[in-house]
Amino acid sequence: MELVCPLCNGLKDVHAACRECGGQMVDGGMVTDYEGPYSPYELTPQVKQENGGRCTHLLYCGTCGEQMYMIAQSEYI
Ligand SMILES: [Zn+2]
Ligand SMILES: [Zn+2]
Repeated sequence: MELVCPLCNGLKDVHAACRECGGQMVDGGMVTDYEGPYSPYELTPQVKQENGGRCTHLLYCGTCGEQMYMIAQSEYI
């Protein structure tokens, strides 16, 4: 059993609608991809466990470019 983010690992797709235009939101990746030091070791599932099993993703609208954050709850696989 391993606690992982289903979005980071491609287990689930983002099913969110854009609040501006209703278009399909696309997963832009973990927020730490943008804010953190650019070390691959920062992006491991172990780091996410320390964050309480939650992973913050930045979503963007493929239609209008609107951005929003989504907290993904990690799951055991
Ligand atoms: Zn994630
Ligand atoms: Zn949109």
